[in-house]
Amino acid sequence: MILTFYLKFIFMKNFNMAELKLRFPFFRLNPNLIYLDNAATTQRVDRALDASWDYYHLGNANVHRGLYPLAEKATIAYEGVRDMVKDFINAREREEIIFTKGTTESLNLVVQSWGSKFLKSGDEIVLTILEHHSNLVPWQMVAKKTGAVLRFCPIKKNGQLDYDALAALITPKTKIVSITGLSNVLGTVVDIKQVVRLARKVGALVCVDAAQFIAHFAIDVQQLDVDFLAFSSHKIYGPTGCGVLYAKKEHLLEMEPWMGGGDMIKEVYLDHSIWNDLPWKFEAGTPAISQVIGLGGALSFLTELGFTWIKQHDQELQDYALVQMRSLSGVTLFGSGDWQTQRGAISFAIQGIHPHDVAAVLGEKGICVRAGHHCCMPLISTLGVPATVRMSFAIYNSKEDVDFLVDGLKSIQRKFR
Ligand code: PMP
Repeated sequence: MILTFYLKFIFMKNFNMAELKLRFPFFRLNPNLIYLDNAATTQRVDRALDASWDYYHLGNANVHRGLYPLAEKATIAYEGVRDMVKDFINAREREEIIFTKGTTESLNLVVQSWGSKFLKSGDEIVLTILEHHSNLVPWQMVAKKTGAVLRFCPIKKNGQLDYDALAALITPKTKIVSITGLSNVLGTVVDIKQVVRLARKVGALVCVDAAQFIAHFAIDVQQLDVDFLAFSSHKIYGPTGCGVLYAKKEHLLEMEPWMGGGDMIKEVYLDHSIWNDLPWKFEAGTPAISQVIGLGGALSFLTELGFTWIKQHDQELQDYALVQMRSLSGVTLFGSGDWQTQRGAISFAIQGIHPHDVAAVLGEKGICVRAGHHCCMPLISTLGVPATVRMSFAIYNSKEDVDFLVDGLKSIQRKFR
């Protein structure tokens, strides 16, 4: 025990950032690029790419149906990742892990399969102003169909949720609270346990958009006691085109599939079908096999790295970036600026220069940051700006990346003065 702690300590202190970065083939081929748009998508780690490569080169077959050894091998690899995801987020059962195309599809699955069945006119769906369009538009669609009503929790000036307002919004009419775990614009950390406590008082369910949360926090769905949790592989160094919906089994058993086709059925007749068992009941058609297998590689890498290291790295980088950014004049920083309540992303504006110009000029210098509404138009309106510039961090970013960005901003300020 003591030895493990000691080794961990040594590992953390002496961890070689240059070596870590080389685990990402993208940086081997693009050594001079400063990539700070990780909230949009991360670069892929070698182990994820290798796993997908191995599948295509050595084990390519469809899953579930084939009886020959190659198909069995593919099924074992694909289903093995389901067990890895279960362990990664500490779900109770593998049946609670559904593979999807990504966070957006996972949230749409909840909305279509749970919402369409259980929401009725006058029911309330509580969201927040922080939400990404993926956790807003699908709820608008189901509200229109069912007559349910959307309610929005506001934020405070520092970007934090107003928990008093949330408590007042959650009433016996509330059927579900669907909320981001971590804002992709402001880096706002949401107190999910508090949200669950409030929801449970009125018997409402809780759905978490963990697209950003999954990259910065060790998640234990049993401890959080959430009903649904969605995330994408491409935000945690795995391939695009696959994601996960975690849902408590009791809900999945009651929900109807929203997509029909192969794999999600047990028996098909001309006039009706009998659904497959969980989790396949919600996985229609050939799944994203190579991507799921790649996600397995990413999860094994992240598990090895560990969230103790990730947390320390996040904090050092963010604290450093905030100090550097505050040293610039004419820069407005959005968000709390406090490590406990802001993580992973820093949004900012530069006086007199449009965010798109900032991002475009930085781009010419090989510095990748995002400018725009970040798929959160209502939040951006609330901030009272046309757009923000956002830097967002991943495990391979270093203080040098921040220095490049800050130097870039200084030169933009000189140019536009
Ligand atoms: N929610 C949040 C908070 C996000 O940051 C994103 C991706 N930007 C999504 C949902 C949607 O994820 P995806 O595009 O992978 O479905």
